[in-house]
Amino acid sequence: MKLSLRGVGKSYSGERGETNALCPLDMDVREGEFISLVGPSGCGKSTLLHIVAGLEPATVGTVDLDGERVRGPGAELGLMFQQQTLFPWLSVRENVRFPLTLAHRRSRGGAGDADRQAARVEGLLRLVGLWDFRDSYPAELSGGMQQRAALARALVGQPEVLLMDEPFGALDAQTREEMQELLLHLIQRHRITTLFVTHDVDEALLLSDRVVVFSERPGRVLASLDVTFARAARSSELKLDEAFLHQKREILALLRGRPRTATQRDRLLLGLTNTRTEGGS
Ligand code: ADP
Repeated sequence: MKLSLRGVGKSYSGERGETNALCPLDMDVREGEFISLVGPSGCGKSTLLHIVAGLEPATVGTVDLDGERVRGPGAELGLMFQQQTLFPWLSVRENVRFPLTLAHRRSRGGAGDADRQAARVEGLLRLVGLWDFRDSYPAELSGGMQQRAALARALVGQPEVLLMDEPFGALDAQTREEMQELLLHLIQRHRITTLFVTHDVDEALLLSDRVVVFSERPGRVLASLDVTFARAARSSELKLDEAFLHQKREILALLRGRPRTATQRDRLLLGLTNTRTEGGS
């Protein structure tokens, strides 16, 4: 298994006492699998992503990547967030190269390394359509272009796993669709293992192999649904497809706390991966 979460849970303690953000859960992610995490605001999706990224310690439980315990942030994880995270004082090309510069310093790589890195940065900038803007600064780019640069930067270190937290959440509808198409294209080419947080069910269905649905805070896994469409057939057009709408209705019903029938509810709960027992915290 590429990524294994065992009993991962989180509570925050502050002045106003304890906030139970995430109930202990198990999750297994296969190599190349694209999983979306959907759920109401505040149910712990970002918290889970930060724990997997090693940016936030879990209160309980463990995260293993390729069988090795994740104990802190590392180059094997590519991160992309909703907020603009590019360095304003670096050009687009320098921003995308930045993670390699850090790794290069650590490994004291030679000149050949530098050439390979430059070629990789160029390849990615071309892939995301930003080569002509390589010497521009973030403030000179639209929101969509900034997120293209952030995507290139997340991929530049050839991460084992890509962690994306509502990366297109702040974009207008049309730009968002363009970014989804770009990501879809990348996934089809490179099969990168991805955990993707979104509250947009259309986006989750369009991009994912599997959609994990969370309850309200403290987040519990309500269901883990395989998306049954062929990847090659996916595009924005698919959002009008009857099979697509059927799965969308299933997920929306879960999010509203109203699975449509008892049998359907039972079937959906077969995907249940929460380790919390009834009466637990
Ligand atoms: P989501 O991503 O699903 O919207 P989050 O993971 O951001 O949810 O937050 C889950 C819960 O944990 C929320 O109630 C939030 O207020 C709380 N929380 C998140 N980060 C912190 C923190 N650093 N300190 C205290 N509480 C936090």
